[in-house]
Amino acid sequence: MSKPIVAIVGRPNVGKSTFFNRIVGRRVSIVEDTPGVTRDRIYAEAEWNNIHFALIDTGGIEPSSADIILSQMREQAQIAMDMADVILFMCDGKDGLTTADREVGIMLRRTGKKVILVINKIDVPSKLPDDFYDFYELGLGEPIAISSANMLNFGDVLDEIVESFPKDIYDDEEETEF
Ligand code: GDP
Ligand code: MG
Repeated sequence: MSKPIVAIVGRPNVGKSTFFNRIVGRRVSIVEDTPGVTRDRIYAEAEWNNIHFALIDTGGIEPSSADIILSQMREQAQIAMDMADVILFMCDGKDGLTTADREVGIMLRRTGKKVILVINKIDVPSKLPDDFYDFYELGLGEPIAISSANMLNFGDVLDEIVESFPKDIYDDEEETEF
């Protein structure tokens, strides 16, 4: 059984590459203040509680308008849908829920794949922004507040990721111990 694939999808600048680099423990993906600098899909191996998986960072090239951002997000979401076992949908807690988030949320919901909703840039978890609860409108379950900058609540996200892998992956892991 090959490793499960987890893809990170979300608008430019929400912090996908920052999260990716923190999880893989290396600076593999480019982090920039300019939106859209992740030029390609970037893969790395990741591990949590002895469960190994492949993590994919997605991004677009210099989107200059809301339309392009949206079409690139559609493309990313499509790639993630096709490839991933689990989709990590990242939104920006400082920006709040946007139209593009809603559009991609609808696409992701339709895939029937496991989607984990993470709201990044919640640097002070005890102070959730008032509009945090808007993210429930996406219909993707409970949003997990994280800060990629400070690695806050990563354990919750990683637990949820590995728990959502197909059961036979765990069986595989156990078998290798005998
Ligand atoms: P991407 O376009 O989604 O890959 O986003 P990046 O990872 O390139 O990050 C975009 C910007 O957001 C950079 O300036 C990051 O330093 C910043 N950023 C990422 N995560 C956080 C976070 O948890 N808190 C804050 N305050 N800024 C963050
Ligand atoms: Mg990026």
